Amino acid sequence: MKLVLQYEDKPMKRTVHVHQTDTIKDVLRLMKVKKGTLKLNGRPLTSNSTVRDNRLSSRDRLVLAGSRAVQVKPKVHTRTLPPGAPLGASSCMITLENNSPRSLMSCGHSIKPQSLFEYCLNEVRSGRVEWRCPYIDPKDTNPLFVMCGRVWDMEEVEQKACLSNREKLLFKRHIKQNVREKNRSCNMFQIKYRISRDTENVS
Ligand SMILES: [Zn+2]
Repeated sequence: MKLVLQYEDKPMKRTVHVHQTDTIKDVLRLMKVKKGTLKLNGRPLTSNSTVRDNRLSSRDRLVLAGSRAVQVKPKVHTRTLPPGAPLGASSCMITLENNSPRSLMSCGHSIKPQSLFEYCLNEVRSGRVEWRCPYIDPKDTNPLFVMCGRVWDMEEVEQKACLSNREKLLFKRHIKQNVREKNRSCNMFQIKYRISRDTENVS
């Protein structure tokens, strides 16, 4: 059953799904409030009584008095390199900053863990199936901008971008999907190529 609850002091409503056997205490827990009293038509409901005991229905106007909503802080994943991690001496190849630790990549170029994360995420979101170092020598006068291009493997990116378990899964899922897409378009190309060759042979 759905219960709509209103805060006494705030113009805020909350809907919770409850069972008949849930106690008022359970309802408050579902509302994620630390303390408070649920009132039905001004009458406070006792915490150990159930939804059924109080004959609550979704039509009832329940008001929560003296509550304090729990602040759910978004979990920020900090990208702090572990002690002993290889550090790059040159500035970050993306942001050009050198005021925070940079990871030293296997190709010898430096990048901040956050920049590495953002770059790699952007790459897989664009359909790439591998990561290549985008470093371009600022002193390079070649108009074609020859980039480093060394491939970084998953393990290296996981460590040097300080990925959380969730991010590791996200990256793996993206790569898997991109490989599948790539194989599909490759097969389509081969089929088209075969068809056009066969047609040429017939004519
Ligand atoms: Zn490189």
